[in-house]
Amino acid sequence: MKTIALNQDIPVCGHYDVIVAGGGVAGVAASVSVARLGKSVLLIEKGIALGGLATIGLVNLFVPMCNGRGTQIIKGMAEELFQLSIKYGFDTVPECWKNGTQSSDGPRYLTRFSAPIFMLTLSEYIKNEGVSIMYDSLVSRTVMEDKHCCGVVVENKNGSGFYSAEMFIDTTGDADLMRLSGMPTVTGENYHTMYGFGADLESCRRAAESGDIGKMYKFFNGGNADLYGHNHPDGMPLWKGADAESVTNYVLENHIDMLNNIKGDNRCERDIFCIPTIPQLRTTCHLDGDATFSADNAYKHFDDSIAAICDFDRRDYLYEVPYGVLVKTGFDNIITAGRTASAEGYGWDVLRVIPPAIITGQAAGCAAVQAIKDNDPIYGIDVKKLQNTLESQDVLIHFDDSLIPDASVTDAGAHFDTGEM
Ligand SMILES: Cc1cc2nc3c(=O)[nH]c(=O)nc-3n(C[C@H](O)[C@H](O)[C@H](O)COP(=O)(O)OP(=O)(O)OC[C@H]3O[C@@H](n4cnc5c(N)ncnc54)[C@H](O)[C@@H]3O)c2cc1C
Repeated sequence: MKTIALNQDIPVCGHYDVIVAGGGVAGVAASVSVARLGKSVLLIEKGIALGGLATIGLVNLFVPMCNGRGTQIIKGMAEELFQLSIKYGFDTVPECWKNGTQSSDGPRYLTRFSAPIFMLTLSEYIKNEGVSIMYDSLVSRTVMEDKHCCGVVVENKNGSGFYSAEMFIDTTGDADLMRLSGMPTVTGENYHTMYGFGADLESCRRAAESGDIGKMYKFFNGGNADLYGHNHPDGMPLWKGADAESVTNYVLENHIDMLNNIKGDNRCERDIFCIPTIPQLRTTCHLDGDATFSADNAYKHFDDSIAAICDFDRRDYLYEVPYGVLVKTGFDNIITAGRTASAEGYGWDVLRVIPPAIITGQAAGCAAVQAIKDNDPIYGIDVKKLQNTLESQDVLIHFDDSLIPDASVTDAGAHFDTGEM
């Protein structure tokens, strides 16, 4: 490849205790956690709204936060953001969870929410919590001294600017900061999927008759493959999404498919009012960390657990998330959270969904502050101390063994159906 040498003076724009790159749900949780522990924090988001895939990506479903037997497992900031997501918009929380009568075979604790209203709510939230935020700003480079990150270069309407910090949290969803820093990452592959939200006359009638605006929504698909690859077009290569060409082609193909799918409709009887403005790609790049989260670890306890989590698809299954999935030894001031944590196979699917992404964000924020205060490398902090901090913030660190199903329970692990709005 031909190259050009660019000799550029970049203005030094600011210093913070912690810089968080990427304002998805993990980045929001991380930055609020830092601010609550009294450290200065800058959250840098390339879009103009918070929430990432959960909002601008239109993935507006908090998957179950319970074990499917009536016990809530994922709490802490996941519960806080769950409640915030429905504070001013519609919800689909099962009645039994609202009135405290959940049973061992009833619906799970989940909710749909209004993605645009959650975006607005998150702006207010982050401001009230004292987090400094820069929208429309892309982290494009890191300045490294060996494996230590001195700062990041940010591109926005001001041009390029340099921001330094003691600790960096990569919540870009794509491992941008980690890749730029030379940390080991793993690239993923994705099926052909994109959906937008809209309505037709029938769904509007349904909403009006029920008095529930949530019933107005209809999905309009481009690619229609599900999580497990059903409906992926024969012969179509999988999307990597880790380079500009792959993202561009993914967007083009899906937009054209979505358009083709509505061309035969009566154009006055339906509309699409929202399409995702970040790629609906589940996996682009994630950390190859000190530990790797795997579904094989169901029901295993870890001494360095930072949270107990449940399985969004299968009742009963419980896991613990080891701290090592967020860090890589040698890189003393970079930690990750959310869908870029180190995981493999179906385990990665369990870990990347919204509630665990929030919990790992909360843990990363608390870990970053602790590392600064104790002058420890982020990979070498006292995890017992972190666990105490998280427990004081209502995070469940270890699941109770009494929740492990008896082998005689015939529907242990049964799949559940979230239903459509
Ligand atoms: C099709 C699909 C369906 C899904 N369905 C569900 C579901 O039903 N329920 C569920 O719980 N989960 C679901 N998920 C998964 C879930 O939405 C995500 O894994 C989770 O929201 C990830 O959150 P995050 O904060 O880690 O990352 P993201 O949401 O990806 O947030 C990353 C943020 O960083 C920003 N960013 C990226 N690069 C940079 C940069 N260089 N500089 C600055 N900012 C940057 C992005 O704009 C974005 O706001 C689904 C995902 C997909 C793709």
